Amino acid sequence: MQEPFADLHTHTTASDGKLTPTELIRLASARGVHTLGIADHDTFHGLREAQKAAAEAGIELVPGIELSCQEGDRDIHLLGYYLDFDHPDLEERLSFFRNERFHRARKMVEKLRELGIDISWERVLEIAGDAQSIGRPHVAQAILEKGYASSWDEIFEKWIGDHAPAYVPKAKMTPQEAIQLVLDFGGIPVIAHPALNADPDYVRHLTKYGLRGVEVLHSRHDEEAVQTYRHLAEELGLLMTGGSDFHGIREGDEHGDLGSVRVPLAWVEALKRAAHALQ
Ligand SMILES: [Zn+2]
Ligand SMILES: [Zn+2]
Repeated sequence: MQEPFADLHTHTTASDGKLTPTELIRLASARGVHTLGIADHDTFHGLREAQKAAAEAGIELVPGIELSCQEGDRDIHLLGYYLDFDHPDLEERLSFFRNERFHRARKMVEKLRELGIDISWERVLEIAGDAQSIGRPHVAQAILEKGYASSWDEIFEKWIGDHAPAYVPKAKMTPQEAIQLVLDFGGIPVIAHPALNADPDYVRHLTKYGLRGVEVLHSRHDEEAVQTYRHLAEELGLLMTGGSDFHGIREGDEHGDLGSVRVPLAWVEALKRAAHALQ
């Protein structure tokens, strides 16, 4: 029998995942995931539904969020766990950044139209459905449907990838602001997949602002990255987390499969204790 494990980093249709919170929880249950963390981009909108589904499926849910931040030309993703997501002020703090995404997606559609790609904003909205943070995946889907390209890679390369002609950069909060936001609402700030877009010195630097944890295990961390960040966490006294970053499997997707990253439950217990200590 396998040890029970957690997967603390997954996405739903509330941001850019493919499965609804209920579908995700059911799949997690079928895969034998004991504890599941949902960390949608810049929104908590999937969590209420997830709580219900998790209770029915007998899965322990770890409520989370993944905030997109920027410092210079570095894109940093900051995870926040166990925030008080029912707090009335939280929505307002987050909606600024979501509206920004909305305007950005809209500007990208305008640029695409100028480039002769005849997709409509209405269709992009339809594709996004009840997703709270509209983004490039929805725009890409609209382009695919119209037959202008045959793969996501092609679309990102030709039009909407970073530095491509229809790309519009986002205005983001800084990692320091994101850490403060998570702390302000009683959550634990954790840097996501540091081997992809940060380095040990930068993680060290963020502890000055109150960073409490490091995502050590991630589907795109190799063994060396795991060792590096595990030792760093031990040295700095930071909590350790991990997850697959599951988005639902789709073509050209580099994210891991649900449950492919197995986080020891002892790490979750430590995370929970730290969150309780803040309340
Ligand atoms: Zn990320
Ligand atoms: Zn993610």
